[in-house]
This record gives sequence, C-alpha cells and structure tokens, in this order.
Amino acid sequence: MRVTIAAEACLSWDDVVPGARDAADGSNVVLHEFAHQLDQEDGELDGAPLLPPTTLRTWGRVLGVEYERLREEVAADPRSVLDACGATNRPEFFAVATESFFERLLQLEREDPELYQQLKQFHGQNPARRAVPDRPGTPAPPAAPTSS
Ligand SMILES: [Zn+2]
Repeated sequence: MRVTIAAEACLSWDDVVPGARDAADGSNVVLHEFAHQLDQEDGELDGAPLLPPTTLRTWGRVLGVEYERLREEVAADPRSVLDACGATNRPEFFAVATESFFERLLQLEREDPELYQQLKQFHGQNPARRAVPDRPGTPAPPAAPTSS
C-alpha cells in the first residue's frame, strides 16, 4: 500500500545557494531535505523510505551496517565520503548518503559499493555512470544526439 502524505519543505535561499555552487562537495541542502521527505512518505522519519518488501531487508542490513561504520569512523577520524552529521541517527544517515550519492558519486561507489547499490536502486538512477572520469564526482553533460 502506498501512503501519500502532503508534505512541504521550506528552505532558505541562503542555504540553497552554497550547496548548489559545488556539485561535488557532498553538501546540498536540497538533496538532504528531499531525502527526509522521501523518508517520511510512510509516516515515519526513520531512515527507511517506502520500499518494495523484497528489497526492505537488504536496505535495512546495508544501511544499518554503513550507519554503524560511519559512527565508528566519525569517532576515530571525521573524514569520510559521508558527512559526519550522518552519524547522528538513521534519518540523518539516509539524508547525507543521498547527498553523497549525487555529489560524491564516484567516491561513494568505490568506497561503499553496497550502499551505492541500495541508493541506486531506491533513486532509480546511476549517477556514477554519467560521471566525467577526470573530474571525479561531477556528472557529465548530456550526450549530443548522433546523426545516423
Ligand atoms: Zn537532516
């Protein structure tokens, strides 16, 4: 059963602009808040968005393992492909993982392939496939149509 909740997010332009200036820094308030909106589609802000029952168990396992790993990494060394804010709780983990999925795509795919796979499945896209190899993290512009 799909539950639809009327939701809205109010974002400050002063917070939106800095996040949009660098598409590869892993920080984007729009992506972050959008992930929270997706997370609470089922009525709970718990880091588990609406998923088909067949994928829910794998999602819970992968994101649970990666969340605990981030908590350990942040305690030892706060540098990670995921923002340290993700170690706060599972909803924040899902939100910062979504930011990295779109902005640090190649690094996330390389360092956390299982997490990348889960987010790829959930968001229905593979941004790393569009990335420009010499500028990691930056999606390539759309390909020009070929004439044949
Ligand atoms: Zn948040």
